[in-house]
Amino acid sequence: MTTLHLIELTCPICESLFRSQTVVATNAFGGKRTDFHERAAGMQPLPYFIHMCTRCGYAGVERDFGADVDHSDRIRENVWCELTPALARELPSGSLKYEHAAKVADWQQTDARYLGDLFLRAAWCCVDEGDTEAERYFRRKAATSFASALASYDLVPQHERAVLTYLVGELWRRIGDQREARQWFVRVSGEITPPGSQEWVMQVADQQRESPREWFE
Ligand SMILES: [Zn+2]
Repeated sequence: MTTLHLIELTCPICESLFRSQTVVATNAFGGKRTDFHERAAGMQPLPYFIHMCTRCGYAGVERDFGADVDHSDRIRENVWCELTPALARELPSGSLKYEHAAKVADWQQTDARYLGDLFLRAAWCCVDEGDTEAERYFRRKAATSFASALASYDLVPQHERAVLTYLVGELWRRIGDQREARQWFVRVSGEITPPGSQEWVMQVADQQRESPREWFE
């Protein structure tokens, strides 16, 4: 069962005090998709790992609301100009929370890997929200962020490069770009470190290239 708990947060942008639900416990009994989307039995916890100020639209994980967080004037202005209007237009869904958190992270020049993770989770939220167009949009943002993380020399630890390369391929496959997907799946073998290890990554990359599955066993 997924258990939530109410916490009180103060927004570092507009000083609003608000309550938000956070995840105390969850489970992985709902299986895992081949893009590593782990499903819980019952309620999905994903939207509750991110908190969003309902007044200005600023969003992030709990530490982004810490007492020591002090944003620049430029970021404050970006929040008021870009996030606040979006909050008035759209439902405060899980995907919107992740999208806003990703924008804040991007304005803070957070690394591409972290950005990719936020976009990937936004896409996963869209799966539950039944919004396939937004899902593809966020998958594309995740794929390009992870690709740029892989392209920068030391952002991704050696032993994670093969898995992340596979994931970029799987994201393109789910977007519907088979050509791009194939190029990334083919690249996986060259990223295996040390050679001969991580056999499961090779197997799953071959499988997704030849006869793709939606779920891991
Ligand atoms: Zn706020």
